[in-house]
Amino acid sequence: MPVLTVAAEGLPHLGEIVVAALGEAAQRCDDVRRRVASEGDTAPEVTVRASEEHDVVIVGAGVAGLSCALECFDIRLDTVVLEADARIGGQVAEIPHSVRNLAAGRFANGAELQRALEDSAAILGARLRLAQGVVEVNLGERSVELGDARLQGRTLVLATGTRHQHLPAAPDGAFGGDVTYQLESRPGHFARRTVAVIGGGDSGTLDALELARGGSSVKLVHRSEELSARRDIVRAVRAEPGIEDLPGWELESVSGGERLEEVVVRRADGQRRRLAVGGLVVKIARVPRTELFRGQLDLDHAGAIIVDRELYTSCPGVVAAGDVVAGAYARIGTAIGHGMLAARSALRYLQEGA
Ligand SMILES: Cc1cc2nc3c(=O)[nH]c(=O)nc-3n(C[C@H](O)[C@H](O)[C@H](O)COP(=O)(O)OP(=O)(O)OC[C@H]3O[C@@H](n4cnc5c(N)ncnc54)[C@H](O)[C@@H]3O)c2cc1C
Repeated sequence: MPVLTVAAEGLPHLGEIVVAALGEAAQRCDDVRRRVASEGDTAPEVTVRASEEHDVVIVGAGVAGLSCALECFDIRLDTVVLEADARIGGQVAEIPHSVRNLAAGRFANGAELQRALEDSAAILGARLRLAQGVVEVNLGERSVELGDARLQGRTLVLATGTRHQHLPAAPDGAFGGDVTYQLESRPGHFARRTVAVIGGGDSGTLDALELARGGSSVKLVHRSEELSARRDIVRAVRAEPGIEDLPGWELESVSGGERLEEVVVRRADGQRRRLAVGGLVVKIARVPRTELFRGQLDLDHAGAIIVDRELYTSCPGVVAAGDVVAGAYARIGTAIGHGMLAARSALRYLQEGA
């Protein structure tokens, strides 16, 4: 069957409807109807896009984007927040343990915090648009594309956070869960086994310590020659006899039958080593979600957005907040604070330009 789609999502809440575009849309609908009638089932799909403009368009409804949206709502800015996922919260949803470093309250886990965020976000109504992933941006024009609609912001706030890096050689959950990117979600699974941990930062080394203290024998594999974890954690690793440190190695492949049996690691000079292991825990750095913005503003070597003290990016009228910001301390509280500040910077830009 031919498909006729007129996309005007959130129509009652449009800041400014481009009337001419909708008039043209109606005309195109009629044209297509006529063509469908004359061509049977062969008529092509037609999408007519709505366009709207707002004071502030926020990309991402993790805690940073959400906090920005709530502050914008409070200070009466016409705001829309776009979230690719079906629920808000971003990384918060992945937290398997209790969250106890927030002055605003203690939460049993990320899911509980996510529900609390959803309660707070209810006030935003249709300003919050879920399952509305931005697929293209023009930062110079401060416009974003959703596929079936285009939104124009007088200011833009980028709060797209970070995502896991997955090693192609190590699919999450493989070999009956012997390969994991979240040790927290598999308590007791690796007890008394030999386990390779990939990653020399805080997360990897803390997991290595937890495993060793639980009776596992740990091979700690990391690409750099030095552990990049906090000094106190590094000292604890050095003092733990159950951890073998393997600096300068990276994962090449994994193999086994029903369960994981072996991983192969290699050095930059091509040297290889086989490790007989019953578990693999991957804890490598997350990466900023900035693919859409590349080439349009200043990013650091890791792809995070460079900002000034007020979170203005190198692109006029474009502000960034949360983990996506270069050098950000990746914490919920920091991201919430960033969101607040981003709202104030957006307001300042609207009032006086940056
Ligand atoms: C396992 C784990 C445990 C943690 N534990 C703690 C803890 O105990 N305490 C603590 O303070 N911090 C903790 N953190 C860190 C904390 O969760 C993050 O620092 C914080 O949630 C970052 O929020 P954010 O809004 O900047 O980014 P994110 O949470 O990454 O949110 C970004 C949002 O943007 C959306 N998005 C991305 N691209 C697009 C697009 N193109 N269009 C539309 N939407 C898009 C994403 O879907 C996502 O919802 C933990 C993190 C993890 C992963």
